[in-house]
Amino acid sequence: MNATATASRRVVQTVRGQPTSDGAGVKLTRVIGQRALDMLDPFLMLDEFRSDAASDYLAGFPNHPHRGFETVTYMLAGRMRHGDNQGNSGLLVPGSVQWMTAGRGIVHSEMPEQENGLMWGFQLWVNLPAKDKMTAPRYQDIQPDRIPETSPADGVHVRVLAGRIGDVEGPVSGIAVEPVYFDISLEPNARFAAPLPQGHNAFAYVYDGAADIGDADSARRISRGELAVLDRDGGDVLLSAGASPTRLILVAGKPLNEPVAKYGPFVMNTQEQIVEAVRDFQSGRF
Ligand code: FE
Repeated sequence: MNATATASRRVVQTVRGQPTSDGAGVKLTRVIGQRALDMLDPFLMLDEFRSDAASDYLAGFPNHPHRGFETVTYMLAGRMRHGDNQGNSGLLVPGSVQWMTAGRGIVHSEMPEQENGLMWGFQLWVNLPAKDKMTAPRYQDIQPDRIPETSPADGVHVRVLAGRIGDVEGPVSGIAVEPVYFDISLEPNARFAAPLPQGHNAFAYVYDGAADIGDADSARRISRGELAVLDRDGGDVLLSAGASPTRLILVAGKPLNEPVAKYGPFVMNTQEQIVEAVRDFQSGRF
C-alpha cells in the first residue's frame, strides 16, 4: 500500500434523532438541530419524516418564511406540493429533490398531496455564506429521472443528487458549499469506499437496516435512525453492509466557519440581521 494513502474517515460521533413536530403539527424526527447535535457546519438541520398515518402529516407546512440559507427536500415516498409568494409551484414526487436557495427571503408552503399512504423523506437545511445570504431566491426542482444512478461496486447502488462518483455527476449545481448528497443502497455484504472532498464536513444517516462505517479496525455499526458524524481527515469513507441490505444518505459540505445567528426560519450572521429579517418579514418585504 502506498504510504501516503489516506485511511477511511472515522466516525467521531453518533446521534439518534429526537421525535418532534413542526409546521402545523407534522410529526418528524430531528437529527441535526437538536441538543445532541446543534449543527454540523454548514448543515443547520436534518429532519426525517416517515409515517403512513395521515394524521401525522396532513396538516403540512402552511405559509412560512425563510431567509439566509437553503432548504433541501428529498422524497423517498409520497407527494408534497410546494408553492411560494412569487408564484412558483411544484410537485415533489418519490425520488425527486428540491434544492431551494431562500436567499433574501421567500414565503412558501409545503403541503402533502395525498390523504393516505406513506410519506417519507428528508429535509436538510444548508447555510449560505455571508456574501450570499441576501441573494435572489432560486429553485432547483429535480425530477427523479434527472438523478443519475451508478453502481460503483458489486451490490452497491448510488443515486447521485449532488457531487460526483467517477464520471457520474449529480444535477444540483452552483451551490456555495459544494455539496455531496448520495443516496446509497448496499446489498448484503457489499462494500464501498465512497469518495468525499478533502476538508468537507460529512455525515451518514442510516434510514434502513444497519451499516458498518469506517475502516475494519475502527468501524462502527450504525443502525436505522442513527447519524454518524465523520472526521474531516481523509477523502473516502468505507461503508459495509452486514448480512442484510442497508440504505443511507451520505452528505458533505464545505464548512463556512462564520458566525451563526439563528431565529426560527431566519439564519444570519448577527443579531442585528435577525431583527432586520423579522422586521422585513412583518412588513411584507419578502
Ligand atoms: Fe419551508
